[in-house]
Amino acid sequence: MSNNERTFIAVKPDGVQRGLISNILSRFENRGYKLVGIKMVIPTENLLRQHYAEHVDKPFFPKMLNHMMSGPVLATVWEGKDVVKQGRAILGATNPLNSAPGTIRGDYAVDLGRNVAHGSDSVASAEREINLWFKKEELVDYQLSQLSWIY
Ligand code: ADP
Ligand code: MG
Repeated sequence: MSNNERTFIAVKPDGVQRGLISNILSRFENRGYKLVGIKMVIPTENLLRQHYAEHVDKPFFPKMLNHMMSGPVLATVWEGKDVVKQGRAILGATNPLNSAPGTIRGDYAVDLGRNVAHGSDSVASAEREINLWFKKEELVDYQLSQLSWIY
């Protein structure tokens, strides 16, 4: 397990509209993860078709596409030990009705299509998604000097 594992976490348009950005970011910061990329994006259909490539033929895809293009998404990249798996745990189950209280989705959502945030589901997906949403030069390499014992 590498200390510089990275994951892609996005606050979806519903999360942005509801003012949940700072709440979501703070959960990752408080856990000890390092923010290495952040920007607001209104995603294009092309970007979303690549991002959600595994879902493009599903019946819910057109509705999801519509929602994801309805306003800005906060795209972020986080770095740290086991961050992909821990990021999924911080988010909670995909369907908020199954998400445990204490998770982002378990605390803030009841609707599957409005489940507040996205997180990469594997190290390989994370790499793919980060490359899709960010240019290399938009990711910042730096040390959290006070937390050198974590990293
Ligand atoms: P996750 O976001 O947890 O990785 P999936 O990759 O399975 O979950 O699905 C991507 C997103 O598509 C979900 O977060 C959810 O918002 C939406 N979604 C998944 N399944 C459905 C469905 N049956 N109906 C509507 N929206 C769905
Ligand atoms: Mg997924």
